[in-house]
Amino acid sequence: MQDLINFIEHIENNEWEQKSLDLNSGRLTQLETPGALHFLPKENVSSQKLALSCGVHGNETAPIEILWDILESIKSHNLMPNIEVLFLFGHTKAMLEHKRFIDFNLNRLFSENYKNYPDAQESKRAHELESVMYTFFDAPSFEHWHLDLHTAIRGSHHERFAVRPYYQDNRAVSQNELNLCSALGVQAILKTVSAATTFAGFSATKINAQSFTVELGKVAPFGKNDLQKFESAKKTLIKILAQGSLHLTESTDAPIVYDVKKELINDHDNYEFFIGSDYLNFSPLEEGQEIERNEKGILCAQKGQSIVFPNPHVPIGQRTGLLVQAQ
Ligand SMILES: [Zn+2]
Repeated sequence: MQDLINFIEHIENNEWEQKSLDLNSGRLTQLETPGALHFLPKENVSSQKLALSCGVHGNETAPIEILWDILESIKSHNLMPNIEVLFLFGHTKAMLEHKRFIDFNLNRLFSENYKNYPDAQESKRAHELESVMYTFFDAPSFEHWHLDLHTAIRGSHHERFAVRPYYQDNRAVSQNELNLCSALGVQAILKTVSAATTFAGFSATKINAQSFTVELGKVAPFGKNDLQKFESAKKTLIKILAQGSLHLTESTDAPIVYDVKKELINDHDNYEFFIGSDYLNFSPLEEGQEIERNEKGILCAQKGQSIVFPNPHVPIGQRTGLLVQAQ
């Protein structure tokens, strides 16, 4: 653990340097961008490229520990990846301060939204991360994949879930995507219906990557994660790197796919939100259960519906949650 902390401090102390390590399996390079590492296999036969990012929210430590362990395995020759991989450690300053972010939520600044927040220190980082992604995914002949790994603050009815970004053709979740999510232990996929300024949203829209924001479990400080709970996700990532492909075999327990039915918006002065603060993401609502009082009246739940990311404490015009429906 101390090695990982030293690594993060190293970046924050401006001691990061561009350098390469030659291994039997290939070359691991610390790129010019701090916190970005590139692995190129000696004989690259894979038709895919994979970006793995963690710590875009600084206090979501489990994915940071997982990627660090994977890098250690590569360096010690215990893991020989057969795919080109970009490893990204997102918000190192917030990691050291045990915070989600410092000035502004980094995971809302992508797809050039950072231009609208020039004073936030996260804006510079969003720009850097975008640049390194454009460089890495410069060859259209490869299949592009990006997994942005997170952990959640609020509990969830589905412990592990993935947010599938929006694509212009509004395509269905593919069998490959279902197999991948299932292997990561993901029980639910939220299929979004509009472009977002998240990191995964950027990869989908600008890089044409198949990408997911993956919520792997609950947030905890460094060294305090119940690593058992993250084991299946870690094993799957290792398997993907070793076999050089994200095309995994079909599993019997496919995740449930949820469609967004409505963005709930605080739309007037007397807006009310009836979902309790102890509500777990994706918990099934009762048919007829009151959700909100919006400008048009009271909105009630239909069969098979639930809420994701409820947050009533937002100004008028902003989102109080997503009403979703299982496919
Ligand atoms: Zn997060």
